[in-house]
Amino acid sequence: MTVSIPGFESFCNLLMEDPYSVNIITNLGSAENKAFLLVDGFLFRNNQLCIPESSLRVKIIKELHDEGHVGRDRTLQLVRDSYFWPTIRREVERYMERCRVCQVSKGKATNAGLLMPLPVPSHPWTDLSMDFVLGLPRTQRGFDSIFVVVDRKGHGFIEMVTTQSIPRLLA
Ligand SMILES: [Zn+2]
Repeated sequence: MTVSIPGFESFCNLLMEDPYSVNIITNLGSAENKAFLLVDGFLFRNNQLCIPESSLRVKIIKELHDEGHVGRDRTLQLVRDSYFWPTIRREVERYMERCRVCQVSKGKATNAGLLMPLPVPSHPWTDLSMDFVLGLPRTQRGFDSIFVVVDRKGHGFIEMVTTQSIPRLLA
């Protein structure tokens, strides 16, 4: 019997494209990798499912953090309860720095009344904001994310399609 799981194939492909995971898989059974186990194409570290570098990591953090907008340590714990990748802490921190709900509630507690409109920049391309739209359905060419740059002077914006995860893009 074969069971078809949507997304399974691409997950396994991502795993085999992820240098960290490939390194572990090729050295399974060694003393330093004794916590890792490969089951039906999924890599586990004890009871944690290993997540290859992809927008899936941000989706998992979003899913677990956005439920109650809990703090960093609790978010980390929720993610680590079921998942593993080597840069979890960094990505949780980055996600929470960008979480609007957390920023607004933090602002209310410490900076109430201090919000000021930003001055309008005098030249184009001096004040840019960046944002990512992640987790879109893959296009035929394999892209699943958009990197949006907005120029506050009003000279439009750039859209870039990417399959890279955010840490790799910002590296
Ligand atoms: Zn939040």
